[in-house]
Amino acid sequence: MKLIRVALDLPLPRQFDYLAPDALESDIGRFVRVPFGSGTKVGIVLALLDATDQPVEKLKAVQAILCEIPTLPASFIALCEFCARYYQAPLGEVLAFALPPMLRRGKLPRMSAPVSGDGGEAGVSRSTALRLRGGSTVLSRHSAPAPTGELPTLLTAQAQAVDAILLAKNFQTFLLHGITGSGKTEVYLRAIAAVLARGGQALMLVPEIALTPQLQGRVAARFPDAHIVAAHSGVPDAARARGFLEALAGRADIVLGTRLSIFMPLPRLQIIVVDEEHDGSFKQQDGLRYSARDLAIWRAQQLGIPVVLGSATPTLETFFHAHNGRYTLLELPLRAVAKNLPAVRVVDTRREKLQDGLSQALIDAMSLRLERGEQSLIFLNRRGYAPVLACPPCGWISRCHRCAANLVVHLADRRLRCHHCGFEALIPRACPTCGNVDLKPFGRGTQRLETILGERFPKARILRIDRDSASTPKKWQALLDTIHAGEADILIGTQMLAKGHDFPRLTMVGAIGADAALFAADFRAPERLFAQLMQVGGRSGRADLPGEVLIQTDYPDHALYEALVDGDYGRFARTLLLEREIAGFPPYSFQALLRAEARTVEDSLAFLANARRDAVALGISGIALYDPVPMKMQRLMALERAQLLVESTSRPALQAFLARWMEAIYALKKTSGLRWHLDVDPLEI
Ligand code: ADP
Ligand code: ZN
Ligand code: ZN
Repeated sequence: MKLIRVALDLPLPRQFDYLAPDALESDIGRFVRVPFGSGTKVGIVLALLDATDQPVEKLKAVQAILCEIPTLPASFIALCEFCARYYQAPLGEVLAFALPPMLRRGKLPRMSAPVSGDGGEAGVSRSTALRLRGGSTVLSRHSAPAPTGELPTLLTAQAQAVDAILLAKNFQTFLLHGITGSGKTEVYLRAIAAVLARGGQALMLVPEIALTPQLQGRVAARFPDAHIVAAHSGVPDAARARGFLEALAGRADIVLGTRLSIFMPLPRLQIIVVDEEHDGSFKQQDGLRYSARDLAIWRAQQLGIPVVLGSATPTLETFFHAHNGRYTLLELPLRAVAKNLPAVRVVDTRREKLQDGLSQALIDAMSLRLERGEQSLIFLNRRGYAPVLACPPCGWISRCHRCAANLVVHLADRRLRCHHCGFEALIPRACPTCGNVDLKPFGRGTQRLETILGERFPKARILRIDRDSASTPKKWQALLDTIHAGEADILIGTQMLAKGHDFPRLTMVGAIGADAALFAADFRAPERLFAQLMQVGGRSGRADLPGEVLIQTDYPDHALYEALVDGDYGRFARTLLLEREIAGFPPYSFQALLRAEARTVEDSLAFLANARRDAVALGISGIALYDPVPMKMQRLMALERAQLLVESTSRPALQAFLARWMEAIYALKKTSGLRWHLDVDPLEI
């Protein structure tokens, strides 16, 4: 009896066996169509078997081996297997996730102008559509890149970093630590150039928001002859499938993409770069909760190649490893071009009566820039007009009926909106409780700031950049173009603006409302705040214009702000590490969260209590099980959520425990409508 074991995209932690009389060893990694239930499904062949533990009389025959689709290489399947094992996800789901949607359905994209004799079993052609078009034209609108051939002379630290990376003969993890503008990207590009010259392929991961035409253009301009594939969720289906096949066939030289591109099969991969490694978008927050940064390290280890993590504010996990010798620390202490770092100052707001939330110092700083024809940026990480609408006489406030959250006032289109579930309603004319017509928006969001600044600086051209004004890539690009054309004097931005953009005329950044994150319940909040402020501050004072950063705060002596003023992330990181060590938090421990959501919080808690009971019954040692608790944001989209934290000082112990525990959890009874998931290495607790 000849059988094949097939992975199918199902939420079940098991594989499926099918009769396949003429299957060959070389079919492992092939796409197959198999009968399933009353229909068919496309799956991936994992193994050839002679026997099965599944009931023989139920075995069905495979319908077709889809030979027109290239075989998935063993390394691709191994990466998915690791991902499935580590994140306790069904392998079939991981494989499906890692594949472009079109291939997942067993379909091939149309390839333009096939190139003969180019190898590749599917006759995959070199697609011109996917080539990043006109790096130079895109770039010329924004900055002035050195023309190809005239590369800048590397600073000593840059040259040492490039040398170290290229000397790596085996797996090695590097942390390239340097502020914005210190020349990290230049280091990546040099290392990638050397890899391409050796005939290798390179994979460069960037945060979702940083993958702009600007960066794509810079890479394309540097490598005019290279075949570059862009991979992110915005790439249309067919193009994504083509990019995947080109990478797999070895025809892509560089894959530049967001977290999902970590799965791109690259047979000659010789370097992985993870830019802005601290960025939260590398961890997927729903479905398959994987960290592309962590998978990058695993993949590099499997292949015996270097992986470069770059950041101005590395995660504490990375910082820790870079200082205990597990990673190699490469520091870029200087800015590559600007002479001076921006001067960072805190504005003590404890004794000052603010004017619509603005201090005199900030107002003066903006006025000065207007006089000089330079740009200012006010960073306020809260979109909308005001965070809540309230009726002072009766105490009514705008709440979302589906979430434990307030409805945010969006005055531009006269709506109340829930930023968690998307619910929206027109702003009521009168209070729904008492009929009072004098409802008051409380607090300030970016829209309100736009109005306030418009009244205060009537001649200034004010531009708001947040997820509402940049709701599509096109609008986002138009906003960037306006800024670069110098057609805006004051920018108001959320964290969207913090990353990866050079604004040559920007010389002042003011941060307001930052204190809120100082005392957040999440232990990672200060680390994130530091990164955001440092990043947004780094936008000012490029080139020859010195920059200034003003941070309004009621806590001017807080260690975070002090370290920021001194530009000393290391000091702050060491303070945080000490706190984490005392509290036993990561990186001194490893965590997983079991979350449940149901119609009532009792149902969610009961499920978790049963899961906990089963965990205890497994006879755990070296594993700390906390009590099930309602989540901080308990109600979301009309579901009541609770979570159970599991912790261990040993990653292998946690992994071994989770694998056994999952079997018990799958077997648990669920009340109707209850859903659960496990989040390994959760970013938010
Ligand atoms: P980062 O990635 O750390 O923000 P970049 O590599 O983008 O830094 O460098 C910032 C700017 O400085 C870019 O315009 C880049 O072209 C330029 N640059 C980088 N290295 C050098 C160098 N050695 N000499 C001159 N300019 C450089
Ligand atoms: Zn809601
Ligand atoms: Zn009222």
